[in-house]
Amino acid sequence: MHAQRIAIIGAGTAGLATASYLAKQQHDVTVFDQIPRQGPVGAGLLLQPSGQRVLADLGALDAIQQQGSRIDALHGVNHWRIPVLHLRYRDAAADAFGIGIHRAHLARELAAAAVAAGATIRYGATVSTLSDCTLEINEHQRQSFDAVIIANGTRSLLSNALRIPQRKAPYPWGALWAIVESEEWPERQRLLQRYRGARHMMGVLPTGLHPVTGRPCYSLFWSLPSSDYMRWRSEPFHRWQDQLQDFWPEAKPLIERMQADQVYWASYADIVMKRWHDQNRLCIGDAAHAMSPQLGQGVNLALQDAQVLSSVMQRSDNIGQAFAEYSRQRRRTLNFYQTASRWMTPLYQSTWPVGWLRDLSSLVSCHLPMVKTINLRVLCGGKVTEKAGAFSPEMVS
Ligand SMILES: Cc1cc2nc3c(=O)[nH]c(=O)nc-3n(C[C@H](O)[C@H](O)[C@H](O)COP(=O)(O)OP(=O)(O)OC[C@H]3O[C@@H](n4cnc5c(N)ncnc54)[C@H](O)[C@@H]3O)c2cc1C
Repeated sequence: MHAQRIAIIGAGTAGLATASYLAKQQHDVTVFDQIPRQGPVGAGLLLQPSGQRVLADLGALDAIQQQGSRIDALHGVNHWRIPVLHLRYRDAAADAFGIGIHRAHLARELAAAAVAAGATIRYGATVSTLSDCTLEINEHQRQSFDAVIIANGTRSLLSNALRIPQRKAPYPWGALWAIVESEEWPERQRLLQRYRGARHMMGVLPTGLHPVTGRPCYSLFWSLPSSDYMRWRSEPFHRWQDQLQDFWPEAKPLIERMQADQVYWASYADIVMKRWHDQNRLCIGDAAHAMSPQLGQGVNLALQDAQVLSSVMQRSDNIGQAFAEYSRQRRRTLNFYQTASRWMTPLYQSTWPVGWLRDLSSLVSCHLPMVKTINLRVLCGGKVTEKAGAFSPEMVS
């Protein structure tokens, strides 16, 4: 395809990875983001083998590995202290592992790769409306492109401009999270979770090196219904810390280091679109397929979106056709993860009395080799092949 002028709205994982790929193909790529600059903000993310493959392709994996924590297993224990989840990456493939990474490191490496490939990133540029391929930027500037890629995350309103049947629903649960530094926390290579029924869940993800201090850091997550968030804010912070320490006494060294002004609220949404392209406009990442966080795949799917788009662009000489082919190629994988996450959600975040069912099924599935293999493949981000329910054999190689 000859060089196209392409606007990408959003310098998150999806937008920056896509910018790298398309700039390498000699397209004239401009990324717009509302933030003034990339800063040391954000939570820890768990990069699966699927996402790592894309980062390797972009030349960013080595730096991410140096700044991240290697994760060998996910381990979940219920309030009776019975281990109900135990997934080891090496059971999927001898050399497979996850990487816990601070979002700031990932954004910085992806932005550097995009710029090195020739993309332009414009920070402080809020895109307020989209008409065909013309953007309105900061409410006074208009700029037209050959193609527009919408990658501005879960709260995107710009995707409404596409003529695509779509459904967006805020998810009734969210999570409080904090980044805590610690030299002593002993669990440096496992994502740990604690559950009480489906209502209470806490997690600790080793998150590599803190982007400011360079010390080892950890992401703490506490699940909460969105409707309880205002009540949580009005209560004394130490009361919540006491609640967490009762819930998970061994995590006390991390819990007591949390500062009230460094605990953030994350809300989620389900976004389902019938397809992701509308002529020369395409929607990717969370803006296209945000889902509940149960499967921890958002960032990995965003990276895969970029890689698939790169491959269809390379093989096509018409951008509209390339975008249509992208929708076709992504449908099965995205539908699979959206459906799986919707089914799993009430088992992890709900007021239903289903915690025992989740614990029992997790326990049993950890001991049934075939079910365990499927769980591992889903975790690793194995892509679903054209045959429904089947997984590609090379997915964690
Ligand atoms: C607390 C938390 C923990 C998570 N943990 C994990 C995990 O462990 N593993 C995992 O795979 N996923 C995780 N996720 C999900 C993951 O972060 C997202 O799926 C992923 O970041 C999606 O990337 P994106 O590029 O689509 O969107 P984003 O990263 O949200 O980027 C969107 C960008 O668009 C910009 N923008 C928005 N509106 C405009 C506008 N109008 N004009 C210009 N710019 C705009 C924003 O400033 C932002 O930079 C987590 C999410 C949260 C909140």
